[in-house]
Amino acid sequence: MISSKYTIRELNQATLLKTIIDKKEVFRAELAAATGLNKASVSDITKKLLEEQLILETRMGDASTAGGRKPIMLTFNGQAATALSFDVGYNYLEGMLSYIDGQVIATVTKQRISVTSETILPLLEESVVDLLANVPDTPHGIAGMTLGIHGVVFHDQPVFTPYYDLDTIDLQTELANHYDFPIFIHNEANLAALGEYTFSSHYQNLISISIHSGIGCGIVESGKLQLGKHGKAGELGHSILYPSGRPCPCGNAGCLEQYASSKAVYEEFARVKNLDYVNSDILADYVKKEDPQANELIRKNAELLSIGINNMIMMYDPDVIVINSSLYQKIPEMTDHVNDALTSRFTRDTLVRTTRLEGNAILFGALAITAQHFLNIRKLKLGDF
Ligand SMILES: [Zn+2]
Repeated sequence: MISSKYTIRELNQATLLKTIIDKKEVFRAELAAATGLNKASVSDITKKLLEEQLILETRMGDASTAGGRKPIMLTFNGQAATALSFDVGYNYLEGMLSYIDGQVIATVTKQRISVTSETILPLLEESVVDLLANVPDTPHGIAGMTLGIHGVVFHDQPVFTPYYDLDTIDLQTELANHYDFPIFIHNEANLAALGEYTFSSHYQNLISISIHSGIGCGIVESGKLQLGKHGKAGELGHSILYPSGRPCPCGNAGCLEQYASSKAVYEEFARVKNLDYVNSDILADYVKKEDPQANELIRKNAELLSIGINNMIMMYDPDVIVINSSLYQKIPEMTDHVNDALTSRFTRDTLVRTTRLEGNAILFGALAITAQHFLNIRKLKLGDF
């Protein structure tokens, strides 16, 4: 293993490596032109990157040139390191071990558990042990571990987590004392946005809206996550839809998430149909059977969400809005209803689509955080798109 190399600190090295990652395959001669570095610097830096096994030489292209030798191209070594990524809900935990480029090696899921300040450390340790049972040998080992937490996180510390008490312990310090790789902690909706940015789109300005029990969103502007002064940016669910409306635990009344969250839809549909329990599968079944009440409810719900989306477009003017929600995944008509409702001359050209990361946007966003720190590259794009 190459020692103490968690980050590539030198700026030129990071610039050159980013160019190689962005171009997928590149000749040395192209690198000088693309980065503005002189040929001697390019030669020195590529030598160092090759020694550190962060890039690889491959022979590609036409062999009919002089001597029959194929020209040497440089590519990013996506298997230079591995990363641990977690989505920590109040009643579930999902973990992923992957290479730094997003190739998944192993996953772990724990359902119907109770995540608290007492249980989180043993639950994570169990999962890390499970995942690392499959860890392959890589030049740099484990580049880091990033957790997605459902609540407000500021400087890698959960500060407001209404669904569980993770804001009562110094989680990052506890984990850093236990593991010898870097630990990062972020809000789940922000990670979902970064996952979409890094692995599923070529856009620079992107908003991901996560709709579960509440509604949160992550904002990426010019490739950078917008967190706000206290890490609270993007709490879209607590924007006010109806003044004097339904009370919300946040202290306001009439918050968007009291009407347009998945939880609000399920409760409304359970009431209308006199059912004990509704989830996305049950509601999707009714929609497939063209149940008029189900159709009316999802249309109304999507229209309410579109008011929040309209406001986000007005404030941020993104290239794309991505919806991360099992409800919207299973009922594609809901995204159509949202798009149909965005008719103003300001909003009608903004693309609204569902996630392409199949429910794993948080895990891939967590990986993106680890990869950004390991490679010392911001605006990192790793997907095939
Ligand atoms: Zn609220």
